[in-house]
This record gives sequence, structure tokens and C-alpha cells, in this order.
Amino acid sequence: MQPFERKTAPDGHEVMLFPLTELYVTQGENGSYSHQGILAMDLVVVGQHDAPIYAPCSCTCVATLSDSNNGRIFQSNAEVWTPAGLQYVNFMFFHDENPIASVGSTFTQGDLIAHTGTAGQATGDHTHFNTAFGQYAGWTHVPPQNHGCLVNSSHIYDTCYIDDTIITNTGGYTWVTYGSTPPVPTTSKRSNFKWVLYANNFRHGIR
Ligand SMILES: [Zn+2]
Repeated sequence: MQPFERKTAPDGHEVMLFPLTELYVTQGENGSYSHQGILAMDLVVVGQHDAPIYAPCSCTCVATLSDSNNGRIFQSNAEVWTPAGLQYVNFMFFHDENPIASVGSTFTQGDLIAHTGTAGQATGDHTHFNTAFGQYAGWTHVPPQNHGCLVNSSHIYDTCYIDDTIITNTGGYTWVTYGSTPPVPTTSKRSNFKWVLYANNFRHGIR
């Protein structure tokens, strides 16, 4: 997404966006460096330190983590459209040296919400981003390395649309753009019907 960007579907629900201006994955899911067993990704904005991170949807800070990584956890204020459907989401960032949010802080989609950084266990400036479906259900630790992650963690590419994001390194994942087409399946029956008619006509030589 881009600074202060907002995107709303025709049904009034926000479209969950990728929170950085650039997509550059430096460590993916289950990465052997420090992501064993978790779906988080490490993300950078090339050439920037303390790069801005924007609220991917209107949200509230629901928890802070007490270790040196300066983790901040947020929950959407309502259901949002994701590539996996309409639902609540929660998400977190690590390594911000100057966190903005404390528990109860509210943000509108597009607001500055955090920064990349080097706080805690970080060898270079980045953010450690983890997403989950549903309302915030807690922070847990998983084998084999006891890494922390959100309960009900989700694939980021199933959670955020990458509209208006500069794509530099996809990490090998397939990312989805919302575009201007509503993901709401309210008209799909009709267009499927037309397509079936067309296909049948085509098959029978009627065009
Ligand atoms: Zn990480």
C-alpha cells in the first residue's frame, strides 16, 4: 500500500492491504534462520531505516510483548476483505525501535502504525510481520525452536492484498491484488450463467 491509502469494497468493508510500500521478503515462512514452525515473514524497504509501516486496515492495538523485540499486536476493528474471505484479522510487528502504539491505540487504515527497525533480535533493519485470522486469540510458542507466533496464524499472502505495493522480491509466494473487482460473489451466478450460455452456444457453433 501507499501512505495514507484507504480501500473499501462496495459492501462497505475495508480491503486488507499489505502494510509496507514495498514487498521484499528477506526471510519467509518456516525460514531456517529464525522462523522454524511459524508463518511470519521478514520484510524490508530497500535502502531505508525506520521505514514507515501503515495500518493495513482500521485497527486497535490489543497487546504489547514485553521482550526486546518491541512487539505490537493489532486487531481489525471490523471484518475486512482478505484473499481468504471476509473476516476479522489480527497481526503484529517486531523490531520497531520507537513503537507508536500502546494497548488501546486506534488507527484508521493508512495511518502510520509502526516502523521497520533493529530492536531486539535483528541483524539488519526490517520488520517481522505475522498475521492471523479472527479476533486476537493470544500469543503462543511453537516447536521446534519455541518461536513465538499469533494463535490462528495465517499466510500473509492469504491475508493482505498487495495493491499499490512496489514488488521487488515476492519470496517465491503468489500474492493477490484486489484491484477494482469486488471479491463479493453477489454477481458471480449471473456472469457464470452467461458464460455457460456462451460456452454452450460456442460448442454448438452458435455465436
Ligand atoms: Zn523474523
